[in-house]
Amino acid sequence: MPNSPNPLLATVHLPLGDRSYDIIIKGGLLDELETHLKPLLKANRVFVITETTVAGLYESKVAAALARGGITAHWFHLTPGEATKSFAVYEKLLNDLLACKIERSDVILALGGGVIGDLAGFVAASLLRGIDFIQIPTTLLSQVDSSVGGKTGINTAHGKNLVGAFHQPLGVLIDPYVLKTLPVRELQAGYAEVLKYGLIDDPTFFGWLLENGKTMFDTSSNRQLAVQTEAIKVSCEAKARVVAEDERESGKRALLNLGHTFGHALEAECGYDGTLLHGEGVAIGMVMALDLSVRLGLANPDERDMLINHLKSVGMKWSAADIGVPLDAGKLLSHMAKDKKAKAGSVGFILGGIGKAAMHRGIDLDLVQAVLHDSVC
Ligand code: NAD
Ligand code: MG
Repeated sequence: MPNSPNPLLATVHLPLGDRSYDIIIKGGLLDELETHLKPLLKANRVFVITETTVAGLYESKVAAALARGGITAHWFHLTPGEATKSFAVYEKLLNDLLACKIERSDVILALGGGVIGDLAGFVAASLLRGIDFIQIPTTLLSQVDSSVGGKTGINTAHGKNLVGAFHQPLGVLIDPYVLKTLPVRELQAGYAEVLKYGLIDDPTFFGWLLENGKTMFDTSSNRQLAVQTEAIKVSCEAKARVVAEDERESGKRALLNLGHTFGHALEAECGYDGTLLHGEGVAIGMVMALDLSVRLGLANPDERDMLINHLKSVGMKWSAADIGVPLDAGKLLSHMAKDKKAKAGSVGFILGGIGKAAMHRGIDLDLVQAVLHDSVC
């Protein structure tokens, strides 16, 4: 990977015409938030949507920065967890914001992980027919994935993320220092999405992660923040490239679902109760996708084993058997047929060797069943 002059600072531009924006990645950014925020604001007032865990850790720092910048803030504290991405919380937030007389010139700050980013983004997309919002993601998953690209939304009784809007933020402000407080399991879940970008089309990045990825987790290393910054930067660049080409997922953006067809089936079967985090499902799903690719002659076994060994080396689950609950290959297969990415009854799989992912349809489901069976056992 190229060495930047300051390993703790990077900017990634997402070119989308009048919806273009910058992603700023800087260790310590929250301590100087006002300097990054002020150029983006039309009025000196923000509405901060966050949740209690993140607020407990970072509210005083953010509030102090806003006060220094002369920015008035209204705070909204939600309950942490996926259940917050609901119609009920969405409706209450809209009413609470309207009660505070929010105007179209105001800006919403989404301070938290993907749950807060998705919900606050959808509130911003729909309130007063659309107001601006800024993402301040605090989990690795949200820093490398959900805060970039403008997908916002909430969950429904019929499935996750089925109501929402494309609404690009005004900017994404990332402080990798906040990862210090993130539970290691959440860091690992986000790391699965980092690895995904290497597997899709960047074998150099994948190779760099094999060498350096472990340092992301090593609190005793003085390179930890530099490695995290670089990994977040390259991930955001990769996502920005795909989104710039295919903002509304009519083609290339689907590649970002590498490992997700299998992963979503695992998540659905495990029940979204914390047994399996999304990123954990994606990691196992990427191994399954590589295994299927090997069986189809699209990848060689060394590539699959490289991924498995790397996941093991950073303490991550790599097979369905690792999850620790009994799973049935047939049931997993039926979840895949129901996945929203299944078009006209044919499940789409992102397959290929490392850095050579492409969408494949019409795959022999007996082979898929064999992959699932071997991972479950
Ligand atoms: P999350 O927001 O639930 O955060 C995970 C946990 O980490 C929570 O318990 C939270 O309280 C805690 N936390 C957050 N920041 C912390 C910090 N700095 N220190 C300590 N604890 C912290 O989950 P997530 O993994 O960030 O996001 C998952 C959500 O993102 C899902 O709802 C998913 O659907 C969505 N998502 C959206 C997109 C998109 O393109 N919009 C992409 C991927 C995922
Ligand atoms: Mg994902």
